[in-house]
Amino acid sequence: MWPSSSAHTIRVILDTKDYAKYPFLREAVESIRETGLTLEDLERFDAVDDAKEKIKSVITRGEYPSIDDYQNEVPAFLTCIVILSEIGDSALSERFAVAFSKKVSENLKEEEKEERIEIAFHIASSVLGWSFDVDEKGTLIRLRYKDYLSGVPEYTGEWKLVNRLLDKGYVEVRKESFLRLIETGVKKYVLRLIEQTKVDEARIPPKLYSAVEEIASIWSKQREELLTYARNASKGKREDLFPPCIRAIIQDISAGKNLPHSARFALASFLLSVGFSVDEVLEVFKLSPDYREDIARYQVEHIAGMRGSRTKYLPYKCDNMRSYGLCRWRCENIRHPLQFFFKAARGRAPRVTELS
Ligand code: SF4
Repeated sequence: MWPSSSAHTIRVILDTKDYAKYPFLREAVESIRETGLTLEDLERFDAVDDAKEKIKSVITRGEYPSIDDYQNEVPAFLTCIVILSEIGDSALSERFAVAFSKKVSENLKEEEKEERIEIAFHIASSVLGWSFDVDEKGTLIRLRYKDYLSGVPEYTGEWKLVNRLLDKGYVEVRKESFLRLIETGVKKYVLRLIEQTKVDEARIPPKLYSAVEEIASIWSKQREELLTYARNASKGKREDLFPPCIRAIIQDISAGKNLPHSARFALASFLLSVGFSVDEVLEVFKLSPDYREDIARYQVEHIAGMRGSRTKYLPYKCDNMRSYGLCRWRCENIRHPLQFFFKAARGRAPRVTELS
């Protein structure tokens, strides 16, 4: 049933439109490299301006806008990576990587069925370095278990290994799940790119340097505003910015109630995601009756991605919050507690109905 080789040969021909949609592909980067583009050349191209617009859109709207022409898109994407690596702020890099990987997912969804999975296979094998086999019908994929783990969006429900068929170190997934794994895989790949990119400061052209400064200043202003919102919200001053599920957990903790593990995880991952530091999260947890600094710090640092697998955990989605009994509300058009916060921070707080 399974072919013996795990190497995958792409069965579609990539063209320059694909390079614009997937600017991180080796073929796309090579096509630009062949033109001999150097860091200094970026001044003569629109790459710096395009990259600034992309990162600004990520900061303000959480969206990565693509450019249709690959000759502009690929240099602009690479310039974003350079700017982000120069700024070196992990929260900004994370925000960029999430927005970019979502865009890749959207682009994949728009592909014809056959092309979609072939491009996904190509990304998995040639960019992410994953090892997998595809069954003869092309519907089931057997993915090396460590690659599966590097792509799971969350360690809950269907994604838990115990809920998957594991055979000789390989995990079986359907095509749809494979595409979702690709999104997280691309996100982590972009984060690695940013982390590993090192540019000789002396070679940075003035225009690129001023872009780094401009973006760093926009980001720190926005972050400071969000932090102020978040801190005030946690003290009950601007409670409307936190979704009711998170407010309820904070109320329980303030009332001295013992929280279940799922509630602690939801609260810590939410606060870290909106910009709290580990110490600031611990300040909130100190209200807990069984608070132990050593245990709490270990757990919060783990959620923040500073220990173990180095994965920064995102809060549960609304569906998962409900299944853990942490949500008894309906927030209009909201599927994730973070979505509530960012909308509310922009003055567009969603309508909330309490479910009976
Ligand atoms: S719908 Fe989502 S954001 Fe709203 S309370 Fe429930 S879990 Fe929280």
